[in-house]
Amino acid sequence: KTLFKESITTPITKSYDVGSQLGTGKFSVVKSAIEKSTGKSWALKMMKKSVVHEQNIVKEVEIMMEVKNPNIIALHEIYESDSEIILVLELVTGGELFDKIVEKESYTEEDASKLINTLTKVIYYLHNKDIVHCDLKPENLLYSDNSTNAVIKLCDFGLSQRCPSGTTLQSMVGTFTYMSPEINNGYGYGKPADMWALGVIIYILLCGYPPFDETTGYNLEFPSPDWDHISDTAKGLIKALLNVDAVKRLTAAQTLKNVWVSGVSTGKESII
Ligand code: ADP
Ligand code: MG
Repeated sequence: KTLFKESITTPITKSYDVGSQLGTGKFSVVKSAIEKSTGKSWALKMMKKSVVHEQNIVKEVEIMMEVKNPNIIALHEIYESDSEIILVLELVTGGELFDKIVEKESYTEEDASKLINTLTKVIYYLHNKDIVHCDLKPENLLYSDNSTNAVIKLCDFGLSQRCPSGTTLQSMVGTFTYMSPEINNGYGYGKPADMWALGVIIYILLCGYPPFDETTGYNLEFPSPDWDHISDTAKGLIKALLNVDAVKRLTAAQTLKNVWVSGVSTGKESII
């Protein structure tokens, strides 16, 4: 009576040497581990069944089994006992984008644009499969390693949902800073909510602080002097992603065509 037919029910310590803690989230502890048979390193995302709703674990695992993308953390195996689920995940060692932002304070436009190009392609990949991530934020974006060629990988499908175009989701999820108005107002939401979060991430990358908080509402500003040197192309893109009207907000496909994101100017594009 396991949640998944793929679940392995022997104790994880039989096959893995469990190491130190890599991170924590709302519902999990993540530790490094070495697979005894191969000597390979992995990350173990450990979740207590008493804390995480069964339905949510099922959604997270089913979606992780469906996605295969070089910029998404891969799922290797699932261990399950009566009290716990352990996801054996591809290990990355470069840390959270969150910590990089704190360290650097802000990214150059060129570095931010390259990162956002990759992230937009990942969102496009998910949305094309009718998957909405619902928790896009710098804590869930991990660097593969500490080198200058490190790539970004999206993790944490704990709030992800299936949402075909034309349908909407209702439950309130996410973190306020990255949550779109339609979620906060209790309206139905879907793929555009991820695009809003992308807009918030770009804003933070370029200045080091978030555009909105609970007290200010959704009044988008680019305060001086922090934003004086930032291009109008970047600001135009942010405005188009942080459009409070979800219907008018840029989609992932449209965002990929934006010059700031594609890095290619045809000389014909409008500012957004
Ligand atoms: P939660 O659903 O509880 O937020 P996450 O999947 O976001 O759990 O994992 C929590 C934290 O653990 C991440 O923010 C990251 O710091 C770390 N982490 C998660 N997966 C990995 C991984 N594959 N490799 C390295 N660190 C990871
Ligand atoms: Mg997380």
